Amino acid sequence: MSQKVSRRAWFSSLRTLMTSGAAGLAASSLSTSGTALSQTSQLPTPSIEWTGRSYVHPQKVLLWENTRKEYREAIESGQVKAAIIPTGSTEQHNEHLALICDTACATLISQQAALRLYPQVKVSTPCPLGYAPYHMARKGTLTLRKETFTAYVYDVIKSLRAHGIRTVLVVNGHNGNHGPLLEAMPEWRRTLGMTLDSATYLSGLREGDPEGQRELAKFLTSYRLLLEGKLDSMARRTGMSHASEIETSILMAAYPDRVRPFTMEEYDQAKLNFESGFSPEVWEYVEPFKEQRGPNVANPENPRDRARQEQALFATKEKGERLITLATDFISDRLQRMIQAAEKGTPWPEKA
Ligand SMILES: [Zn+2]
Repeated sequence: MSQKVSRRAWFSSLRTLMTSGAAGLAASSLSTSGTALSQTSQLPTPSIEWTGRSYVHPQKVLLWENTRKEYREAIESGQVKAAIIPTGSTEQHNEHLALICDTACATLISQQAALRLYPQVKVSTPCPLGYAPYHMARKGTLTLRKETFTAYVYDVIKSLRAHGIRTVLVVNGHNGNHGPLLEAMPEWRRTLGMTLDSATYLSGLREGDPEGQRELAKFLTSYRLLLEGKLDSMARRTGMSHASEIETSILMAAYPDRVRPFTMEEYDQAKLNFESGFSPEVWEYVEPFKEQRGPNVANPENPRDRARQEQALFATKEKGERLITLATDFISDRLQRMIQAAEKGTPWPEKA
């Protein structure tokens, strides 16, 4: 339903837009998104995404925001070549980030990549929970069993396939899901006969890739300190994987309401203990991971939790914007190659 926008408000919005440097935006996109215009001279916040030369409403690529008519017509037109399934977690992200962080980040990157490849890609409803038993020592974490998580993702892929999707990329936002997805892929490819893959959204840069780490070290303080050998403890060297500079920056850029202010004084005053004193019910989740670490691995939870909190202080909105762009490049490139492989009938994954 579109609201009538007064002529004066329309012109004053356009003037604001022109002076803010976005003079190229077609007037037609303003008039078609009438609900986005307020009666004031300020443009409201809904994001305007550029994909090639024309404006696409960012919700258009989200399967669950389509009507059945819109989705059916998109599929039947042959324009939709692939789908993304975002997977995340609802789990503790230290003292300052909302528990939905991983799901929100995976969905954001999926949406950005789909807009970049519009109209070829739809984003399915995200999986909001993941495999996170090792975070259960912090209240608020919800975890699925590994088999529940993989069964969920499999069922979503199968539903997409039933309606004509033959290429699916799972875009993951939570490290605990990474292994189970990679493990499941070969069998799913065999069973379903699809072009299938999964990628954790920054894994192209973070894992075992020195060049990627150098790229991150150009603008992330924690990675620079790591490469310079200036992180003096195991806790500090491994703290950046969760709730620290990367995730805090991304949420500051995209969802500032999901980041709370904090100080290290407040953190220390809370006297948190994640190494002992759990109820038997919590211990059941946490114990297997304690044993896996072994007595000689000096990476206890308490200093690592504190290191994450410290490194989160390096986060900025600008770093978040850069991270979102890098992750979107990585995911859209992967998906584009998958679409090409499916069209050519060549196997996926590509042979190295
Ligand atoms: Zn996270």
